[in-house]
Order: sequence, then structure tokens, then C-alpha cells
Amino acid sequence: MLNDLNSYLEFMDKCSSCAFCEATCPVFQADLLETHVARSRMLIIREAFIEKSLPVSKRTLEIIDRCLLCSQCKQTCPAGVPVNEIVIAARHQQYKGKRMSLPRRMVLKQIMENRGVSGMMKKAEVLARAAGISPKEIPKLPKQSFSELYPAGTYPPLGKTRFRALYYVGCGTNTLYPDTGEAVMKVLAHNGIEVTIPEGMVCCGIPALAEGDIETARRMMETNLSILAGSGADVILTDCTSCGLTFSEKLMQMIPEDDPLYEKAVEVSSNITEVTDYLQQIGLEAPPQKLELKYTYHVPCHGNWRSSLNDAPRELLSGIEGTELVEMEKPGACCGAGGAFFVDFKELSQKIRDPKLQDIRQTGAEAVVTQCPSCRSYLSAGLEEGQWVLHPITLLSMAYGYE
Ligand code: SF4
Ligand code: SF4
Repeated sequence: MLNDLNSYLEFMDKCSSCAFCEATCPVFQADLLETHVARSRMLIIREAFIEKSLPVSKRTLEIIDRCLLCSQCKQTCPAGVPVNEIVIAARHQQYKGKRMSLPRRMVLKQIMENRGVSGMMKKAEVLARAAGISPKEIPKLPKQSFSELYPAGTYPPLGKTRFRALYYVGCGTNTLYPDTGEAVMKVLAHNGIEVTIPEGMVCCGIPALAEGDIETARRMMETNLSILAGSGADVILTDCTSCGLTFSEKLMQMIPEDDPLYEKAVEVSSNITEVTDYLQQIGLEAPPQKLELKYTYHVPCHGNWRSSLNDAPRELLSGIEGTELVEMEKPGACCGAGGAFFVDFKELSQKIRDPKLQDIRQTGAEAVVTQCPSCRSYLSAGLEEGQWVLHPITLLSMAYGYE
């Protein structure tokens, strides 16, 4: 469980020091510091926070802070050691929800709990840009949030109803990229899916989890579970791979079997599905039109919670005549964003992003598709004018004739 670092001891014991994680940890690849590779990070955490044979020094804290929680190590570790989870548990033990400064914590709380604060955020954004303190990697807020464009309610499909879906709208789509949400609504309606947008959703909790603030993340999950469980819908959809990871995996790492929320957590965690993965599974009813576009696919680090998920956009979009997928050499390499990591460790993040941008450029693609809003904003900021980054569902909606 994420709130109990000692519960990961059995995983730590499984590490054979094979060093496979050296090849995949983006932080180690960028700075080549042995202390930053997943296995050393885990060993230092064990010695400092469990065995207490090492002091919890400034350097020890740097080691637990300089982790993107990308889970690349877990994906390639032959023993399946979840170093990313161990880092969250260590942050929880060390910081007790106070890793960030108080003003940042207050802003994050507002964003997580009150998604209808776009007016306030717009003012804050204008001020931050005027003062030159807004990172250029954060895109300008759109005029309207998704919840203003599509208020809570049930939206019928264009023709006969094939399925009924509940749409969990994450903060990235709601606040930064409502175009993704619009595309989801249009494509689902085109394909016979009735969509209910529930009232009262809050952030999935992943920004709090990244801080090790398990209590705040749990509060978010309690609210969302009370809204998403027991709806009777055929599926719960998300367009964001990080929200999906939170509901499918992290939820079950925080809510034990004897918890009163357990049944609801199991229901939501087994029903949550990423929208392109869902459409690929049920099949498109309405055939897309021809669309001339050369694109490449950036696989988000948080897209590994369903085995079919990472290939779903490739397969779904292959049905659009005229489009051409040009693969990168390393489509699954991390982009370096890591939630707020790129704000705290600017140079390191850029060093991780640079080879990714180079890989994208060498494809000659006009567009990059990816299901993570954080990757989208960080990649967009690094690419040249005229190269877009968009959600795969947006590309599909374009092939249905939408802007
Ligand atoms: S890949 Fe896994 S088993 Fe091998 S050194 Fe890294 S953490 Fe240990
Ligand atoms: S989660 Fe990512 S950054 Fe952290 S140790 Fe694993 S591979 Fe490295």
C-alpha cells in the first residue's frame, strides 16, 4: 500500500541488481548519476527510511525528488519491482503531504477540488504571464473550459444507442484542452454511444499522489467513487492515460480489502477504459472520411495499465484512409514532463525531452498524437511552429469532418 513504505520490502528483496533499469530510467540516461538509477534509488530509500542506517540528508531527499514516477523501470524490471510506487511511499513518509511550499499547495488544492475555477485561473494566468513567472511549457488557457462547453448531463448519440458510457473528464481536458473533450463527445455520438457527464467530479488525485500526499488523493477518490460507482453504465471512459492509471491501479494500492470503499473501488477500477482503446474494442460504426496527414505516436509512460491501450490509437487510426503513421525510433521514451517535474527540474527535463524531440523531427510527421495532456503541453512547447500535438480522438473527429 502506498501509505506504508515497509509493505514494499518484499519487492525490494526481489531486486537482483541486474541493472536493466539503467537502460530505461530517463533520469539516469540524462545525468548518468549512479544514485539516480532505479535500483540505487530504492536501496537508498531502504537504508535511509526503513533501516535508518543512512541519514536523511539533503542529497537523500534530492534522490527521492528527482524521480519522474514514469514507471519505465517497473515496466522493464524482470522482477517487477515498482520503484515508482516505492518513491511515492517514501515521499509520503518523509513529507507527510507538505513536500510543496504552502502557496503551491493552496493553488493545487483549488485546482484539484474546484474544477470550476477557470475564471480565477484565467486571472492568475494573465498575472503570471505578465510577471514572467509562468513556464512557457504551460499552454494558454482556452476561453471556455470543457465543463462550460458541455455541462453535466446525458448526451444522446446521433442514431440508435449502442452503449451507455460515463465520461470522467480529467483536469487537463477540462481546463487546458477542452478540444479533446469536444472530440470525445462528437466521436462517441457518431458511433452510437450515449454519454453521461456526471455532476461534481474532482481531480483524479494524481498530482497529490506524486507529492506523496496520500490523504488528499484519497479525499479526491472518495468523491469520485461516490459519483462513478453504481451508475449502471456499460463503461467508464477517460481520455487521459494518467487519470486512467489512477483509477485502475493507484486506487487499488490505496484502498485495502477491509475498507468500506473497497467494492466501489473494484467496480470503478475494472470499468475504467481509455476512449481510443474502447472504440478499438467495440469497433467504429461510422466510417471516417479520407484525411491526408502524416503523424507519429508518442506512447505516454502512464499508458501501461491495459495491455491493449498502447496499440489502440495505432489500430484505430489505421482505418482512416490517407493518414500515414511514421513510427519514432523510441515511441515509448519518456518526454520528461512528469507532472510538475519539468517546473522543479527544468534543465534535467529538457535534457530528457531533447532526444524525444529529435526522434519526432526525424519522422517528418506533421502531427504527434498522444493521450496524455501533460506530454502534449511539454512536447508542444519544444516543437517548432506548425507541428501539432493532439489526442488521437481529435484526429478521428477531424476524419468525421469536425474542425
Ligand atoms: S531492473 Fe529491477 S531487478 Fe534489475 S536492478 Fe533494476 S530494480 Fe533491480
Ligand atoms: S519511475 Fe522513472 S524516473 Fe523514477 S526511478 Fe523509475 S524509471 Fe527512473
